[in-house]
Amino acid sequence: MTTMEAENTVPDPHRLPLDVRPTHYDLTVRTDLEKLEFDGNVSVHLEVQKDTTELVFHSTGLELSDFRITGFEHSLSSVLFDKDNERVKVGLPFELRKGSTAVFHIKFRGPLTGSLAGYYRSSWKNDGKEEYYSLTQFEATSARRAFPCWDEPLLKATFSIALISRENLVNLSNMNVESEDPYANVSEEVHSKSEQWKITRFAKTPPMSTYLVAYANGPFEHRESSYVSPLSGKTRPLRIYATKDIIHQVQFTLDVTQKVLPLYEKLFDIEYPLPKLDTLVAHDCDAAAMENWGLITGRTTSYCLDSSNAALHTQKIIAAMQSHETAHMWFGNITTMAWWDNLYLNEGFASLMGEVVAMDKMFPEWKIQAEFLNFHLNKALLRDAKLSSHPVEVECPDANNILQIFDAMSYSKAASVLRMLLTYVGEEVFFRGVSAYLKKHLYANSVSRDLWDAIGEAAGVDVTKMMQTWMCETGFPVVTVRETAKSIIVRQDRFLETGQPEEKDNQIIWSIPLNLAIIESDGQLKVNHAITLNEKEIEIPLDTSRSYKLNVGTSSYCRVLYPSERLSKLSQQAAAKPPVFPLSDRIGLVHDVFSLASAGHTELSVALDLVHELGKGEEEFLAWEGMRDSVGNLVSLWWEDDTVHDLLQIFQKNLYAPLVAKLGYDYDDNESPDVKQLRTLVISGCLDAGDSKQVDCSFVRTALNIIRSIIKELRRRFDVAMETGDESIFVAELETPIYVAAVRYGGRREYDIVRGIFDNPSSPSARTSAIVALCNPADVQLIEETFKFILTDVKEQDYLEFISYLSLNRKAKRQVAQFMMGHFDKIYEKFSGNFQLNMMISQSFERLTTKEDAEVVQEFFKASPRLQAQGSELTERLS
Ligand SMILES: [Zn+2]
Repeated sequence: MTTMEAENTVPDPHRLPLDVRPTHYDLTVRTDLEKLEFDGNVSVHLEVQKDTTELVFHSTGLELSDFRITGFEHSLSSVLFDKDNERVKVGLPFELRKGSTAVFHIKFRGPLTGSLAGYYRSSWKNDGKEEYYSLTQFEATSARRAFPCWDEPLLKATFSIALISRENLVNLSNMNVESEDPYANVSEEVHSKSEQWKITRFAKTPPMSTYLVAYANGPFEHRESSYVSPLSGKTRPLRIYATKDIIHQVQFTLDVTQKVLPLYEKLFDIEYPLPKLDTLVAHDCDAAAMENWGLITGRTTSYCLDSSNAALHTQKIIAAMQSHETAHMWFGNITTMAWWDNLYLNEGFASLMGEVVAMDKMFPEWKIQAEFLNFHLNKALLRDAKLSSHPVEVECPDANNILQIFDAMSYSKAASVLRMLLTYVGEEVFFRGVSAYLKKHLYANSVSRDLWDAIGEAAGVDVTKMMQTWMCETGFPVVTVRETAKSIIVRQDRFLETGQPEEKDNQIIWSIPLNLAIIESDGQLKVNHAITLNEKEIEIPLDTSRSYKLNVGTSSYCRVLYPSERLSKLSQQAAAKPPVFPLSDRIGLVHDVFSLASAGHTELSVALDLVHELGKGEEEFLAWEGMRDSVGNLVSLWWEDDTVHDLLQIFQKNLYAPLVAKLGYDYDDNESPDVKQLRTLVISGCLDAGDSKQVDCSFVRTALNIIRSIIKELRRRFDVAMETGDESIFVAELETPIYVAAVRYGGRREYDIVRGIFDNPSSPSARTSAIVALCNPADVQLIEETFKFILTDVKEQDYLEFISYLSLNRKAKRQVAQFMMGHFDKIYEKFSGNFQLNMMISQSFERLTTKEDAEVVQEFFKASPRLQAQGSELTERLS
């Protein structure tokens, strides 16, 4: 073998030349979990599209050898490695002619590192002893870290995978096992140990993109179930794999998988295309979960729960995660974006399908449509209200940058806009279009326009034109309403958190479904879904002596600004008993009013009054969650101003304390999900409000007394559990508040106990609760200690959680930024190529609010050439 370090190998550093296209890979990988390394060989079947004398493909971090091409007996020696672009160019001693085929072979070898990307290792404790297993994470561009390949989503091929491992371990891959045999042909060194090895051969996949290929090797156990296809009557096995320490916690995930697959088959009118669906729950994952075709992988926090004591919140996370990943089995895996700039479509769609449509059908009692507003819509609107926001669909020539531009807004805005479209055309028409789109692009690639065209055809409207502005332009509109006696005049302008936009930033005209409701004399809402605002301003005839509301259902991606008298009427109606508006409208109204007040369109007192009024009678958890988020954002924004911060904390105390007094601490199995979650929310709200200066006046005395008794009770439960070892006193719903109260209002002793729980948790949720608590001490020395052990004792996958929770602790906010700047090179090295990096950087800095902070951060990014692109976007966000 001859190798040379080389210059850039091709004119376009971001895309492979298409002289040849892979059609099939025969991939064999041997895993050695003792030496923590892997090796293998790949034979790639190529179709020659253009006469060529070279092959250019992706590979990075691997030792490659023995380059051969079938029909040519010598190994190929002209090999150039282009490290910067993660590719290899092999010169051929003859020309491959257009229209011919060729089979290209390479051997490869690499280490199983803890990088969470490519083929990597995960660790777990087997009866107290640390052991390893291996799995893959290839999205977006890490298949090339595991085996040499043409690593672009458009270059779909079939895969026949064989895994060689020690005989006592389990091999998993996308497809079903075809055969498993003893394997003797391993090196002398291995033979000398007289170990038994085996080779597991998997069935050939359908055509698929490299980023969806997956395999794993380890001492996995599994739980099994099956489902019957409603389309063909065929039964398919469903399995959840995990190591033995957590396998007893996966039943709920299995149940959700079984429920959701037939549901999608019916909605898409396409049968699940693979013979099985496995899910591997892993101790170390970059993403929360990954939709590898036929072998989903995900974190313990995404898929494990203690069925004897599980919080509803945990059940919701698992159900949403699994139905999101399963939606990708069709949307993304059968039909895949041609390039990464359209990845938002996969993610927006899976978020809408998995986290709203399917969840609502499986668990109607969870009122998931309304939860979407808090979890996705409002988050997206808050981010998108910044002048520095970016369009959902943004050019991304370099696939390695997709992880940088692909932020939460791309998931949440894309999902919100798709939900608006679904409401506009109706669910039945929407899915007719989606089904036609998937059928037209089976096992192929597509661009977003293909989906708009298909839905548009089903609906008989020009969806492509409508979606163009929502997906390809930055920001969103505020709809301002003026009234005459006989009409309303509605006008659209770009909404910015800083107030009125300059003319140059206010040029876009969006197509906004107005969803106008008239409130009839009997209190019923009569909704007109047909009116769309396609111009700057329109006048709609309406008797304004009657009650009305726009954006009913809060389905359009906009804010609505009413005249102040109308808003106060709407507020009264929202707070009426029984409420005039459905839950989603009450939530939308709260989010809108707070956002409009922050931007100076209305007084802040109007927003606080609305919450005060609603708070008197509101019984729905999700409405309370919306209020808590809105007030919490305000508190977070004012964290540096003691006076305002303390006043807002008093407001929160008075808001939540009466409800704790009413609901108590005891959870009853027969209670509605609303009551359970509301109790947890108000107890946590009181804990958060309790850390301001305690102004002891009659105005807050009652609330203060309640809060003091909450802290006392939570700490009592913590102490009893620690002294007796009986954790049954920890109702799952109160696990996090109990740990937080203990650490925040206790001291060194409580901190050390919770640190011990973090190291040896009884369940994934106990571990998450311990992380929240360790980020929440009031004592600055203990905060310092948490920062120190992040670098030494925290698994890579948990960094983001630590950074996020520390950034919510008022006493740690500036330190988080300093921590990130102080250890940036190390963190960058560790997380380069991971999903978490961009989010970690955002979380570290975006809570800062002063000009001085912005200048410091700007200087830091200017001085760091690695981060010029990220830095400029981020510092714009800060300013
Ligand atoms: Zn997804």
